Formats: sequence, C-alpha cells, structure tokens
Amino acid sequence: MKLERSEELYREAIKLMPGGVSSPVRAIKPFPFYTAKAEGSKIYDVDGNRYIDYCLAYGPLILGHANPVVKNALKEQLEKGWLYGTPIELEIEYAKLITKLYKSIEMLRFVNTGSEATMSAIRLARGFTGKNKILKIEGSFHGSHDAVLVKAGSGATTHGIPNSAGVPQDFVKHTLQVPFNDVESLSSVVEKNRDDLACVIMEPVMGNSSLIKPEEGYLKEVRKITKENDVLLIFDEVITGFRLALGGAQEYYGVQADLTTLGKIAGGGLPIGIFGGRREIMEYIAPSGNVYQAGTFSGNPLSLIAGYTTVKFMMENKVIEKVNRMAEELVKGLKDVKTDDVNVDCIASMFCVYFGDVPKNYSDALKLDKERYMRFFWKMLERGVFLPPSQFETSFVSYAHTREDVEKTIEAFELCLRGL
Ligand SMILES: *Cc1c(COP(=O)(O)O)cnc(C)c1O
Repeated sequence: MKLERSEELYREAIKLMPGGVSSPVRAIKPFPFYTAKAEGSKIYDVDGNRYIDYCLAYGPLILGHANPVVKNALKEQLEKGWLYGTPIELEIEYAKLITKLYKSIEMLRFVNTGSEATMSAIRLARGFTGKNKILKIEGSFHGSHDAVLVKAGSGATTHGIPNSAGVPQDFVKHTLQVPFNDVESLSSVVEKNRDDLACVIMEPVMGNSSLIKPEEGYLKEVRKITKENDVLLIFDEVITGFRLALGGAQEYYGVQADLTTLGKIAGGGLPIGIFGGRREIMEYIAPSGNVYQAGTFSGNPLSLIAGYTTVKFMMENKVIEKVNRMAEELVKGLKDVKTDDVNVDCIASMFCVYFGDVPKNYSDALKLDKERYMRFFWKMLERGVFLPPSQFETSFVSYAHTREDVEKTIEAFELCLRGL
C-alpha cells in the first residue's frame, strides 16, 4: 500500500498542530492517511487508495458519505445564506420532530457539539437541583470538558490520559464514578451522596471503551434508583440517538431519562449537539431561567437542515431496519471466521472486534489487547477496510454499505486474523 503523500503531509502537520491532528483519536501511529474525498461507503486517500469505511467519522454518518438527498438540501440552503444569527422556522420543525420521537424530551436547545450538550445538561442538572456532584460511569466519554474528563473513554483512554491534566482537583472532586453494569455500586454511591448529587450521566450503551452493552434490566434499575433518590438521570445518546432506534436507546430499552443529549447523527454530518428533557427542567435555561447557555453558531441553518433531512430520510426509507440487517450479516460472517481469542459483538448497527473477552465494564475493556488490535487495523487497511484506529472505539455500518462491501470485509477479516 502506497501512503507517500499522507506521510509527507503528516510531517508538515506535526510541526503545526499537536500530534499533527485536530482531534487525538486521528493520530494513528506511525501516521494517519489523509483523505481526499468520500462517497457512500467509501473513503479515498490522497495516494489514491480506496477503503470501505466502518469508522464513518465516529458515528454521525448513518447514511454513509455525501448522501445525495442531504447534499441537495444543503445546496438549497447555501443559496439562501448559511448563518443568520436569528431564529428560523426549521428550528421549530426539527424540535417538533425530536419531541415526537423522544417521549422524554418536551423542550430542547440546539448547540454545536456533543461536548457542549453534555456540559450544558450537567450545568442544568446542577442549576435545577441546587446540588453539586455528578456521577458518571468509568470509561464513559461525554466530550472534552472538565467535569467529565475523569476515567474518560475514547481518545483519552486510547492515548493513556483518561484523567486529563489541567483540570483542577476542586472540579473533579465533584465527579463520582462507578463501573458500568454494577447496580450495587451505583445504588450505594447514589444513596450515600443523594443530598448533594445532581445527576447520573451515562451512555446507555457504552461506545467509547470498545462497545459495551447494558446487561438485562440494568438501565431500568438505574432509572429506579435515580428516581427514588431525587437524582436526575441524563442519558448521553450522542451515539445511540437515531441509531439504536429513531427514539434512541430510550425507545430501544423502554427507559426514559430526565435529560437527554444528542449529537452526531442529529447533525447529518455537520456539527450539532442537542440537549432536552422535561419542560419544568428545561425552563431553567436562559433566557427563561437562570442557567446560562449561549452560542453564536447554535441552531445554524446548515446543521439543522442536514440533521432534519437525515432524520426524515431515515423515517421514510426504513433506514434503521435496513442498516441493522446489513450489520447482522456482517457480524454473522465475522463470527463464522473469527479465531478463539477474538470476539465480535454488535447492537443495531454498532459493532466491535475485541482482542479478548467481550467486556462488561471499563476495567474489562482495559484488558483487551490494544496493540494486537492496531496490527489488525493496519492489515485490514491494507486490504481496503478502514476500521476505527483504536480498540476503544466502536465500528459502524451505514445505509450505503452493500452486500459486496460486507463480503469483501469478511474475506479481509479472515485473511488478516491469520498470523496476528
Ligand atoms: C462523540 C461523543 C460526545 C462528544 O460529541 P462531540 O460532538 O465530539 O463534542 C459526547 N458523548 C458521547 C457519548 C459521544 O460519543
């Protein structure tokens, strides 16, 4: 595989940007490939290589790259300008659609990233309850702001810095942690801290420490414990929203949160974040309430039209059903050829290849063989398959993936596992 131009570009990039990248997980060793273009299920690098993409920008691209319907909607919007700084009708249309799909969301605010959504939702939970502490799950990832960079997953774990420097102890002492899938730990920490605990924030399915599914009944227990102790429950559905179901993990598992954060798919490939929940809580947000939150680019027309068109398209074309079926075929094929010490698991259109046992929490995930995963990653790339460049990320299947892609991937998988 020729990667000369990418290597050249990387040499320039590392002089200009820390690690040569704009987000840590992209800093693949020895260097990442540089993308020239992408369409459908394929991504093309600057050296002319073509890959079947299962990284898919880490989650937003459920329709694949450059979906023509979304592209047209964006073109139409471009003709009318792309930033106004004033309200637009589409905000109302999109908010109506989301409140219809998410029973727990009566009101919402559009922001620009998932990080901003979780940061704002946590501030809101504190403002609404008048309490200080938050409880997160070890190895969960909620973006890159102070309160949640404690045992954080995704790039923070990949690069060995789950507890970021630069975050004052005074901040993180308010962030409590428990392992995923452990009802006892959660209930004891919640009960002990209930008087000063504002919220529990969690990814209902962990997608940033490999892929970790909730055990039967776990989320229902979490809901029950938080309710009984007057602690708000925030589901961070930045990955699971519009993916497990149109109504996210809440629809999939039949468990409602008090506050929900959305992002990724919700922006159809453009930057977005959304947080929402019950009216009485959301009305604490400025200007109707005293919890401040604002943004120059919030609710911008391009992100809204891309997200709205994506969700509408998904509804009209049974996208989730079709993508899930393709993912099922792929995962079945991978399971058929896998070796004993490698595992494959999936939920809806999220899947993961584990070098070790399928984890049920963060400390299990840390036992996975991440070096071996990276050797596997490069071999797959050489065979034209782009998986996420870390054992701690989730792979995705899109609406653009074809049966031929799936067959080619299974074939590559079988060849790459030999001699690893
Ligand atoms: C990606 C992600 C975020 C952060 O979203 P950004 O748009 O990258 O800021 C937050 N929570 C979860 C669960 C995520 O996967």
